[in-house]
Amino acid sequence: RVAARADRLTKTYGAGDTVVHALRGVSIGFGAGEFTAIMGPSGSGKSTLMHCLAGLDTASDGSVRIGDVELSGLGDKEMTKLRRDRIGFVFQAFNLVPTLTAEENITLPQGIAGRKVDQEWFETVVDRLGLRDRLGHRPSELSGGQQQRVACARALVGRPDIIFGDEPTGNLDSRSSGEVLSILRAATDEFKQTVVIVTHDPRAASYADRVVFLADGQLVRELVRPSADDVF
Ligand code: ADP
Ligand code: ADP
Repeated sequence: RVAARADRLTKTYGAGDTVVHALRGVSIGFGAGEFTAIMGPSGSGKSTLMHCLAGLDTASDGSVRIGDVELSGLGDKEMTKLRRDRIGFVFQAFNLVPTLTAEENITLPQGIAGRKVDQEWFETVVDRLGLRDRLGHRPSELSGGQQQRVACARALVGRPDIIFGDEPTGNLDSRSSGEVLSILRAATDEFKQTVVIVTHDPRAASYADRVVFLADGQLVRELVRPSADDVF
């Protein structure tokens, strides 16, 4: 089963002399339960690709499908609903609500969507991310790494079909990075969730099923079942 795919995706910013070709015809599929890490130099188009896949940005040409839904055919309302029901985000800007506790932040999207939180999975996520004794704290009382793990828990707890992460281990020490990567791995193994992250973290390679490399807006290499040594 294909959870998402991009076909001949192109994205151009600007016009005339200042045109930037951020994506130049990228085609890639993401299987259900597959964990993909996207790597490549700064400016190679990684964020643009992820934003287009997640419906946060629109491509200039080509198509994106989430499951069997073609994104270009959706209006704003339908897009919002699809994101809410099927997609989880772990982005660098944590976007936590400052007035809410960690626990309230983690469960907030479920409340908004009118869904019940699966308590057992909530406990598992919280424990594995080492957040048990931080649940009552507000974001300002948490370290950067803890805030990032709260954002990760928030994305995981509703068990969305697809989780997109932009440098999810970006500001984390090596222990926290391992915790985040292993819970993402568990989400794919145990619940067939699909995980797609943009990362510079070579450790991600040991958790991912596949690493794809972007350069200058094109896919240039793919490693299946990689090890960290392959990407250093
Ligand atoms: P990466 O995530 O690999 O660092 P990006 O997808 O952020 O790459 O950027 C790819 C290219 O597109 C870069 O040259 C970047 O400067 C350009 N770019 C990205 N976003 C914009 C934007 N909103 N306006 C103009 N150029 C952009
Ligand atoms: P990263 O390298 O971590 O992916 P960037 O700093 O390249 O992050 O980009 C972060 C965001 O800033 C991008 O998703 C894009 O929307 C915006 N951006 C990047 N480059 C440009 C640019 N040249 N002009 C305007 N916006 C940009």
